[in-house]
Parts: sequence; C-alpha cells; structure tokens
Amino acid sequence: MHISKSLRTGGCLCGAVRYSVAGALRPVVVCHCTQCRRMTGHVMAATAARRADFRLVSERELKWYAASNEARRGFLRRCGSTLFWEGVGRDYISIAAGSLDESRGLTIACHIFVADKGDYYGIEPGTPQSRDGTFSVAFPTREGNRLDAAPAGRRAPGAFLEKRRRRDARGDRTPARE
Ligand SMILES: [Zn+2]
Ligand SMILES: [Zn+2]
Repeated sequence: MHISKSLRTGGCLCGAVRYSVAGALRPVVVCHCTQCRRMTGHVMAATAARRADFRLVSERELKWYAASNEARRGFLRRCGSTLFWEGVGRDYISIAAGSLDESRGLTIACHIFVADKGDYYGIEPGTPQSRDGTFSVAFPTREGNRLDAAPAGRRAPGAFLEKRRRRDARGDRTPARE
C-alpha cells in the first residue's frame, strides 16, 4: 500500500484500535448534547472523514453502542477511549478529534446542541453556535486540509447541511440496541 505523507492516522489510548484517513478532514464540530456529554465525560469534539477515505487499520477491542436508532458510537472496551460517531445513512464517519496523532490544520467550526451544555464551562466567543443539531460546515476539498497542503485552507464551494434529530441527541426514551 502506498503511504502518502498526507495520510492522517489516529487511535485509542491503549493502541488496540488504529485508523487512517486518506482524504481531507472536516473542521471540528463540538457537540454538547446529553449523550455526548455522558459518553465522553465532557463534550464530543469531532472531525469527520468521508467513508471512502476512512480505514480501520486495527479494530481489536472496538465496541459499538447505539444510544438511539439514529447513530452508533464506537469506543474501546479495553481502555475506554471514545472514538467514533456513525450516523445511519451518512456518507461520513465522525471521529473524536483528540484521537488524531496529528491535528495540525484543524479548527473548531461550530458548537451544536448548546442548549444542553453543562453549566461549568464557557464557549469561546466568535464561534457559531446552534441550540440544536443543525449546522452547516464546509467539508474541504480532498486536498483542502491535508497535512502537506498550504496553510491557507481553501474551502470547498459547497457546504453540507447537517440536521441531527433531536431524538438522537436525547435518546433517553429509545432503548439501546446493543
Ligand atoms: Zn484502547
Ligand atoms: Zn452529541
């Protein structure tokens, strides 16, 4: 396999799960919903990769938990790392930004479900906020934020619109599937 120097890699705390992303990563979206706060112990700061670009290099100890019918969450049975959020029918996978080996070039694009945020912290001023799960963040072109790309990130002309149903963010009436 050809290893491009722009290949992004990441993994969990104990190293049992490793992944790679061959294309551009979406800017980071921080989710303050109740599910993410419980799962991570704080908030879910997630970048995302197109499915075609994403590869699980090693998936030992990886478990999936579905807190609603809308999505499942990938975590480590062994070390407890939160890694992935995978929405049903979406062509990308959300990846916990803290699991990346190298996060250079990524920035926080917006905060979502801020209506559910904890009282003990603030949100940096100037960054867009959404009270629910609706946001619109430009997914860069394939070359946009590769590690070897120029620092001045060019944005793709089209932004994709995200609408996550309220039920997924709360999900407390939906039984877990796993
Ligand atoms: Zn681990
Ligand atoms: Zn969330």
